[in-house]
Formats: sequence, structure tokens, C-alpha cells
Amino acid sequence: MYDVIIIGGGPAGLTAGLYTSRARLKSLLIEKGFAGGQVMTTEWIENYPGFEDGISGADLSRKMEKQATKFGLEIVQGSVIDISMRGGIKEITLEDENRYETKAVILATGSNPRPLKIEGEDRYRGRGVSYCATCDGAFFKGEKLAVIGGGDSAVEEGLFLTKFAETVYIVHRRDRLRAAKVVQERAFANEKIKFVWDSVPEKIEGDDSGVKSLHIKNVKTGEQSSLDVGGVFIYIGYDPNTGFLKDLVNLNEGNHIITNENMASSVPGIFVAGDVRVKPLKQIATAVGDGATAAIAAEKYIDENL
Ligand code: NAP
Repeated sequence: MYDVIIIGGGPAGLTAGLYTSRARLKSLLIEKGFAGGQVMTTEWIENYPGFEDGISGADLSRKMEKQATKFGLEIVQGSVIDISMRGGIKEITLEDENRYETKAVILATGSNPRPLKIEGEDRYRGRGVSYCATCDGAFFKGEKLAVIGGGDSAVEEGLFLTKFAETVYIVHRRDRLRAAKVVQERAFANEKIKFVWDSVPEKIEGDDSGVKSLHIKNVKTGEQSSLDVGGVFIYIGYDPNTGFLKDLVNLNEGNHIITNENMASSVPGIFVAGDVRVKPLKQIATAVGDGATAAIAAEKYIDENL
């Protein structure tokens, strides 16, 4: 029997684990991939306080994991498929049929890249269609690439891809970016980046060797054209990982978990932290704040109820 089980090992989950372990609660973190979550696949981070020259996502993830396990957090790899309630006790079932019991749960499952849902996307996934520049960028040395989206992810990862690519087209459905101004300035100053405004992708084409072109449509003129590219990197936002929860906790219309300011969900003893919850700003800095708040709320819940 654990005091707290944390599901998800990104910055929110690892911070929750740091705090619950320091509170001497018996704590287990279940992560289906690598500790660090999305941060692990981010090349460089320069808006997380304390690292004035920036830090790589991989290094920040390793540091957070080390710090949390130093205080006793246990980490197992596994995919949670169900959470059931037995009075105040929660039973967590993994895909490999392992089961764990706990007094409190902290959901920190983050989100997954949202697919474009256009023709060719599934067929060329892993053969030119990618959702992770850090993982796949180096395969495209000297090539032309397209990045879809106008948010922080698209523009930051587009900049990163200029390390390898000859040209990076940033295809955005409007004529103004959503990304932070400092990132925009860098992209506008980079000669390898070309913006394709007011345009949406319609089809990805290729052959046995992979992606060859991206068909796009100008949403203002209706004009259709195509870009000869060897890769398409999709950054149009993220969908929360809440499918395994079924109807357990209240979600909003976008399937994010609704919480109060103490990170409590609609179910007593189930707390939430990070990108998976309804919140206005999704940053590492806000995820770690959520993790700390959820941990302290879980501690209080256990003290008062179990
Ligand atoms: P995002 O901010 O939601 O941006 C998604 C982009 O994709 C938007 O420009 C959107 O266009 C476009 N888009 C959405 N659906 C589309 C579709 N079907 N077809 C074509 N374009 C589409 O997502 P994100 O950039 O992944 O960022 C997610 C969150 O993480 C944000 O809160 C962001 O600030 C944060 N983040 C922060 C950092 C950082 O601080 N360094 C880095 C990465 C991410 P519109 O602009 O027209 O809506």
C-alpha cells in the first residue's frame, strides 16, 4: 500500500514526487516512457528559472529525476489502464496486469502531440512525418522541411531544425504567430526559415523512400500549391492523456481535468498537476508549481481522512 501514487513523470509528476517523498509519504511514480515527459524531447530550454544560459531538456529531466529519487521516490515503468475505488483506497491497474493500492493519486499524465488528420500523415509517420524535432531532426541534413503551426513549439522546433535543414518552411494558418516574441524575433532573423502564411496543409505525398511533398491551401485566396520537402514536423498543439480515466473525474470539453486551486479533482483523494489539467499557461514553471501544490494537498488529504 502506497500513500501516494503519481501517474506521469514529467516536471509536474517529478516535482510532486519530490515533495511527497520529502513529506515521508511512501510514494511511487508510474511513467510509461522516460522520466521528463515532453521536456525530455525538447532540445533547449531557456525560460526555466535557475539556468541563466539555458539547459537541455534531457539534462533538466535527469536532474529532476535524480533530485526526486534522492528523497525516496520509487519509479516504475508502465502504462496505467484503470483506476478503481474501494472506499478511500484507490487501486491502479497497469497494462502488464500489475496492481498497486494507494491512499492518494496525483495525475500528471501530460499530453500527446495532436495529429493533423490529413491524407498521408499516417502512411509517412516515422518516414518523414514527425512530432519530435529533437528525436528526428538529424535525419534531415541538407533537406527542405515543413513545420506546421505558429505556437512556441512550431517556431522553437523550426529554429532547431535549421541546424540540419537547408530550408525550413513554417506553414501557419494565420498571418501572425502565437509564439513568444523573443522566439519570433529569432525566427524572423534566421535566413533558413521561410514563413508560409495563411496556409493549411492538405496532403502529404511521397514514395517508398519517404515524404516528398506537402500540399497546402491558402485560406484567404483558396490557391493550392505544394512544397517539395523531405519531412513534415507537426506542432499544432497537444491533446491531454485522459483516455484511461473513463468517467472517473470531471473533464472539460477538451478532455482536460477540471481542478480547484489546490489541484483537487472531482474525486476525493485524486489530485492533478501539469498540462493534463485545465489551466491558462502550460509551461515547465507552472507544471512544477502544480506538482508541489498537489503533493501538499495529497498529504493533507491523507492526514485528515485516512
Ligand atoms: P499551441 O500554442 O496550441 O499552438 C498550436 C499552433 O498550431 C497554433 O499556432 C495554431 O494556430 C496551430 N494549429 C492548431 N490546430 C491547427 C490545425 N488543425 N491546422 C493548422 N494549424 C493548427 O501549441 P504548442 O506550440 O505546442 O504549445 C502548447 C503549450 O506549450 C503552449 O501553452 C505553449 O506556450 C507551451 N510551450 C511553451 C514553450 C516555451 O515556453 N519555451 C515551448 C513549447 C510549448 P492558431 O495560432 O491560429 O491557433
